[in-house]
Amino acid sequence: MQTYRRESERLKNTVSDVEKTFPRLGVNKKQEIIRLLYEISKKENTLPSSIIKDMDSIDFNTAKQRLLRRRFPNSYINNEISRTYLPKLRLDKKSCLDIKNKRFYPETIFIEKAAQGSRLAERFRKSFPQASFSEIKSLKDYLKTHRNTTVSDYNKRRGTAFITYENYDFFKTCPCTKKAIGCGYNIFNLSFGCIFECTFCYLQEYTNSPGIIFPANIDNFFREFSSYKRKGMRIGTGEFSDSLMLDNITEYSLPIVEFFRKHPDVLFEFKTKSVNIENLLKIDHSGNIVIAWSLNPQSIIDENEFLSTSLLQRISAAKKCSQAGYRLAFHFDPVIYFDGWKKEYKKVVDLVFSSVKPNDIAWISIGTLRFNPKVKQVIEDRFPGNKILDQELLPDFDNKLRYPAALRQNIYKAMLEMLSRHSKKLPVYLCMESSSMWKKVRPLWPSGALQDIYSGRCHTQHKALGQHMA
Ligand code: SF4
Repeated sequence: MQTYRRESERLKNTVSDVEKTFPRLGVNKKQEIIRLLYEISKKENTLPSSIIKDMDSIDFNTAKQRLLRRRFPNSYINNEISRTYLPKLRLDKKSCLDIKNKRFYPETIFIEKAAQGSRLAERFRKSFPQASFSEIKSLKDYLKTHRNTTVSDYNKRRGTAFITYENYDFFKTCPCTKKAIGCGYNIFNLSFGCIFECTFCYLQEYTNSPGIIFPANIDNFFREFSSYKRKGMRIGTGEFSDSLMLDNITEYSLPIVEFFRKHPDVLFEFKTKSVNIENLLKIDHSGNIVIAWSLNPQSIIDENEFLSTSLLQRISAAKKCSQAGYRLAFHFDPVIYFDGWKKEYKKVVDLVFSSVKPNDIAWISIGTLRFNPKVKQVIEDRFPGNKILDQELLPDFDNKLRYPAALRQNIYKAMLEMLSRHSKKLPVYLCMESSSMWKKVRPLWPSGALQDIYSGRCHTQHKALGQHMA
């Protein structure tokens, strides 16, 4: 709330300074100037009045260009500023995230009629005895009258869980992003929503469910799998949720590992920011199970990945899993740019390789920060003190806000260089990047898959790169 007070004061001063300096501007032009001025003031921690002190005698276009140059200096110099995203700025106290309860303990648990009596429902009853349990006909029915519509509704989602009986939405190909190279990932659609609170999370804007969803009928997923399966595919549960965040309660990992032992030609990935690995450590598994962690420097975790685990905890869990014979994966995603980023990411890379052997790593992904423009306003609302929006983020090839292409290329090349010091054979892919970026950076993805990419056969087709991995 302290940061909310500081930022709303800044916005108030910005609006008042713009009114005084440009009294005759129309509403839309005024909004653009307010946003640019506010963002510069926040980034540079300067008073807005000092930024526009001598602009009262210049016209709108000149003022806007001056502010754009100061707000996006690199993009401006490199002529990458043709598209900007300058929506109306609003800050709302009610939308600000105030994390009171770190522990996940839903107050209300809705159980679909068809999921009553399921093992998962019983485990939730046992784990959350103080919660109020109610039966609903179906989640679909419930959502007709209870959709999340506001940011403050989203902030409350951890208070509600739904135990459902999934009938049709079992698997899908990862939608990736427009005009990007897909990595061939497939989604095993078990759970929707997350208990962690990351500033950059796309789910903030994507979901309208008033709670976190847990399907109870995992056996139906397994039954449906034979018609979805393709030899060599990569599939996992970490797209719409965190694969292991509540594995001590859901115990999803146990039947999954058991099931995929019968499908050695498929790679299954659990992707997580948790260290909930106890179930995985106590079961027999086969070599096609990959346990993956998203990694960032601790300073970035502290400022952006609230309620998740520390970097050291994640690496220590990875080490335990490798000692138990699992293959590992690491996702440097999103890589966040800040002063001194290279040194901090190098420390993370070195820490990984001081703890696990390159041969135990199935793949590594690198993806720089990007999000749908609408997410920007949600981040401002929920995390007014965030620093991630202070960098230059502009609409790019897929209309998502991204760092300038030259900066992204530098980041990818530097990360690949850091990784190659430890092993020249690590399979690495770029997450949600354009084919031109793949060609410039040339990550170390297996040669067969790369040929597909460079020849264009893989472009936007989400072809199973895993075929080359199996
Ligand atoms: S862990 Fe992943 S899914 Fe969960 S809040 Fe963070 S980014 Fe979103």
